Amino acid sequence: MSNLFDSYRRQFLGGLGMTAAAVTLAPGVILREVQAKPDDEAVTNKVRWGMLIDTNKLTDGGDGMVAACKKEHGWGNDPNASPAQQSQWVRKVTFKDKLTKHETSLPVMCQHCETAPCVDVCPTGASFKRADGIVLVDKHICIGCRYCMMACPYKARSFVHEHLENQQPHSPRGIGTVESCTLCVHRIDMGEQPACIEAAPPKAAVFGDLNDPDSTISKAMKKYGGQQIRADLGLNTGVRYWGI
Ligand code: SF4
Repeated sequence: MSNLFDSYRRQFLGGLGMTAAAVTLAPGVILREVQAKPDDEAVTNKVRWGMLIDTNKLTDGGDGMVAACKKEHGWGNDPNASPAQQSQWVRKVTFKDKLTKHETSLPVMCQHCETAPCVDVCPTGASFKRADGIVLVDKHICIGCRYCMMACPYKARSFVHEHLENQQPHSPRGIGTVESCTLCVHRIDMGEQPACIEAAPPKAAVFGDLNDPDSTISKAMKKYGGQQIRADLGLNTGVRYWGI
């Protein structure tokens, strides 16, 4: 798996005009973006997972990332739901500059806010934030009130209206509950990258530990910044963008 991460790191750094050697801490020290957490080890706040998406290099506007998420989690084609009732964990959004007419498209999913409005309004604690920054829904105690859907400024949550078929075993869903991007927590805990990151065009997206100053994502954000959608809300999102 480390070869994969190295490959992504090279691709991404190449796009930044940097080289893999530029992120070497010292001879013999290997940077690892994601490391599998042993099952008996608790999630800690030593790491904060995040992703950085370069819209300038997103040649398909995010279509591939959306498709990968659908396939990984099995949403969007629920046979018992009407078109309006289909879940949408990540969607492609297009902005148009009124002056230049320039259009920018980007994928918008749960932004994994440090101060998450969905968590604040949830009456049962079903919406919660893991110590490592991943915002999730505990489907066992979600009562389907949908307060969190109203509170989310990114419209990133969906409600499951109908019975589901052919679910992905690693991503259980349930009628009457709310769902959203899990940051592919099932993959992260295995030391893998989110499905959408793997599907992004070369050099367009990177995933890693925002708390680690030596991670590729932290170095890239330190050098070039990382814009937040609706930064004015002060939510300190874990998902960041370039080119918006
Ligand atoms: S991180 Fe996983 S769940 Fe979130 S948008 Fe990407 S593929 Fe979907």
